[in-house]
Amino acid sequence: MQSNLRIAFIGGGNMAGALISSLVNKLAAPTQIHVIDLNPDSLQNLVTRYGVSTSLGTEQADSNLRSADLIVLAVKPQQLHTVAASLSPYIQSQIVLSVAAGIRAADLSRWLGGYQKIVRAMPNTPAMIGLGMSGLYAMDAVSMAERNVAQNIMQAVGDTLWVEQETMIDAVTAVSGSGPAYVFYFMEAMQEAAQQLGFDAAQARQLALATFQGAAQLAQQSDESVSILRERVTSKGGTTYAALCSMDASAVKPAIHQAVMAAAQRGKELG
Ligand code: NAP
Repeated sequence: MQSNLRIAFIGGGNMAGALISSLVNKLAAPTQIHVIDLNPDSLQNLVTRYGVSTSLGTEQADSNLRSADLIVLAVKPQQLHTVAASLSPYIQSQIVLSVAAGIRAADLSRWLGGYQKIVRAMPNTPAMIGLGMSGLYAMDAVSMAERNVAQNIMQAVGDTLWVEQETMIDAVTAVSGSGPAYVFYFMEAMQEAAQQLGFDAAQARQLALATFQGAAQLAQQSDESVSILRERVTSKGGTTYAALCSMDASAVKPAIHQAVMAAAQRGKELG
């Protein structure tokens, strides 16, 4: 990242904290980061932990906002309209990067008086520990260099994937945005089954977590598809085969497909 890039965060909560922590660890000096929030305690916490500069509200941040190269909007979706209205006077040519779930770039652009240099990011909760997955969408007015700046910021908290249609951000939400909860659901079921087989809760948790972590890392490090990896550990007539036949008989895969479609549909309704 450019060593002179200036980043202003509006909203200093969970997502901003995760981004700032990773940025300060990996990519940026604290002096490059300014945070605006309405809560003095949140700001003090960020100053103490990361040494960033702060302002209580947008008016106090006048010069920091005007001189920023990138403004990250990290408030709750329902707070974004008010925040955009208060931000509008300070917008010149900054990249505006919104992580707010479900708020369309066109709506944000309207609230910013027609400003178009907007990137939307849809991260997920593992971003909190630097292992997130974020979908990214940019309006046409965002140049390739500016896209790269936004991508670098989101890569501080994990992997990124660009989508060219904004509707695909809803699809990202349905797959990786809500996805951690699907994985937790599967883990819950594995832990319950492990306890039925005689393990205590701590042992069941250890078995399930290590299995997910190991399988994900194995898939990550392998050139093979997950289907091939699954086939490799499934000898006909064996124990894994018995389990997978049982899952097929219970239509687990179609149920997962339907669940992801339900999330995508709900995203459309909310959007
Ligand atoms: P959060 O912890 O509530 O942080 C938002 C912060 O913004 C709060 O400190 C809030 O203060 C402050 N704020 C509210 N109005 C403001 C204003 N007018 N000016 C400046 N600051 C203001 O929320 P979060 O979990 O970080 O989520 C932020 C965004 O990230 C959301 O839009 C969410 O959709 C998105 N996101 C989060 C996750 C996640 O894993 N957390 C995942 C994907 C997307 P108060 O508390 O006083 O209101």
